Amino acid sequence: MLLENAPYSHDKAKLYDLLLDNTDEGFILIDKSFHIVAINKAGADRIKEIFSKDVIAGSSMFQFTKPDRLSFIREVYARVFRGEPVSYQVTAHTPGGIRKTFSILSRPAFEKDGSIFGALINTRDVTQEVERVYEQEIALGISSIFTSKHLLSEALNDLLYLLCREYRRDAAEIWIGNIDGTALLRKASAHCIEEGATLSFAKGKGLPGACWAEQQAIYISDLQRDDLFQRKSFARANSFVAAEAIPIVNMGATTAVLVFFQKQGTNQGIEVPTSILFHTGNEIRRKDAEDRLNRFFELSPDVFSIAGTDGYFKILNASFPRMLGYTMEEVLSVSYYDLIHPDDLKSTEVLVDELAGGLQSNYFENRFRAKDGSYRWFAWTSTSLEEEGLIFGVAKDITEKKKSEQLYRDLNATLEKRAKELAASNAELERFAYVASHDLQEPLRMVSSFLQLLQKKYNNQLDDTAHQYIHFAVDGAERMKKLILDLLAYSRVGTNSEEHTFVDMNQVFSEVKNYFTTTIHQLNAEVHADRLPTVKGNPTQMKQVVQNLVGNALKYHAEAPPKILINSKELNGEWIFCVEDNGIGVDPRFAEKIFIIFQRLHNSSEYEGTGIGLAIARKIVEKHGGKIWVEPNTPSGSKFYFSIRK
Ligand code: ADP
Repeated sequence: MLLENAPYSHDKAKLYDLLLDNTDEGFILIDKSFHIVAINKAGADRIKEIFSKDVIAGSSMFQFTKPDRLSFIREVYARVFRGEPVSYQVTAHTPGGIRKTFSILSRPAFEKDGSIFGALINTRDVTQEVERVYEQEIALGISSIFTSKHLLSEALNDLLYLLCREYRRDAAEIWIGNIDGTALLRKASAHCIEEGATLSFAKGKGLPGACWAEQQAIYISDLQRDDLFQRKSFARANSFVAAEAIPIVNMGATTAVLVFFQKQGTNQGIEVPTSILFHTGNEIRRKDAEDRLNRFFELSPDVFSIAGTDGYFKILNASFPRMLGYTMEEVLSVSYYDLIHPDDLKSTEVLVDELAGGLQSNYFENRFRAKDGSYRWFAWTSTSLEEEGLIFGVAKDITEKKKSEQLYRDLNATLEKRAKELAASNAELERFAYVASHDLQEPLRMVSSFLQLLQKKYNNQLDDTAHQYIHFAVDGAERMKKLILDLLAYSRVGTNSEEHTFVDMNQVFSEVKNYFTTTIHQLNAEVHADRLPTVKGNPTQMKQVVQNLVGNALKYHAEAPPKILINSKELNGEWIFCVEDNGIGVDPRFAEKIFIIFQRLHNSSEYEGTGIGLAIARKIVEKHGGKIWVEPNTPSGSKFYFSIRK
């Protein structure tokens, strides 16, 4: 309504125009037959923007209504013409493809007499508000794609379909820089026939490479003519006419390049909002990092798991189902308690309780049933996220280790059993040798006594040959007696139960030296010992060893008078004793043999003996946990060593 006394000279119509044409809101007045009878500037501009047409006198509103909206419009205006105001929203695209949204309020236009003339349509451009909401919805859609898809490539694929749909593009592809930033690789495409498609570009090369290098959008209206676009046959195969490349820039660096294709029209279409590009860039980076981590996760031969305290695995890498022969779905759909070996159930339950209570477990073993019914052992390291009831676990398959441990245990048990059997049969043999040698002595004594009686009584009746025979027989019996006595001594080594005490080896040496006084004197021998240690052992047996070695050193002397030296040294927790002589030496070929019972290198006419002295020495030393050996072929003589544990 115009004010009555306004101090203006303008006419009323002019004032109305000023009022209506200086507002952003569009006003359109139509009569009941939908003819536009008045329109302000904003209204006319809006219609022109969408329909590229001027509103002229007599224009029908239906000229500016899309055919699919006709019935809706008729319904709305039937209500308006009955006197009811109606509001609604209209979305339309400009010929350039820009989407516009208008909020429309149509109310009845009354004549002065109250009758309805037509409708006053008030249009307000709400594109910005609507687009903002719309952008948020797209961003949400993008996020949900990246959350629900396991792999980056799958997510990118879905992303391109979404962008094509939302931004009305015929096809799309996405290019991402390789790890060292030297090339762009095409990671996904939507609505493209792949014929002749190049899948990588260096920086600056091709449409994606140029967009990547320049960090700005590039639009090509004629793909066949523009040299920047290299993939002519690819464009032809897909009937792509125009393309635009849009960089997705994140923190100054291009994360990816989006390329959209259009089959017709050379216009650029609506822009993809920066916020959507930024959001997409973030999602790609996040997913890419996740993808890389996932690859490690999946590649690992070890098991990675997130399990609930409710008894179900939530997330597992592929190795666990693979080891057991199940599919991932099978493992995730049953309670892990159903797969655990019955004997490990209790301990696993206790562990899960402890973990749920916030404890950490560095080592825990249990068995899981494989699909073929066998069980595999796992060694777990676990920790929990108490508040969420989740257990994070890493496990190694230790089945083979367990098997070899079992094998080792079985082997040990067998060895132990054998050793026991051997000890028992040894003891039996020793008893036998003892009894045999003991009991043989008596008849042997009888043989030699009666032979000697025979010799005495029939001395004159026997000729020389008979005397010689008797002599041989007595001599044989004598040697046999010695053998039996030695055998007895040998068998006694095992049965001697004298307690181990501290044995002063200096004392032992001087007793041995005393024992050989006469021989030493006769041979003009020199027998010396360095300062010797005290060892733990059986005193009688220690003396026996030294006596046998010194005895041999005296017996197997060479031309020169014997020189014998005994010394000792400490080595690796043992005392090593050495009896060194300047005698005839030992042929290296027989260095082992001489320690075997009854093995001699000489016959008794050369050197008297039964071949049992070193065997006894060896048996004693071994019983004391040591070893005995000879170092033969020293310049002259030999060195006999024996070791005794400290
Ligand atoms: P025996 O002296 O009764 O023959 P031993 O068991 O003491 O029995 O010795 C076995 C063999 O080792 C001897 O026959 C001898 O040939 C050789 N032997 C032992 N000690 C020495 C030594 N000190 N020098 C040279 N040969 C030795």
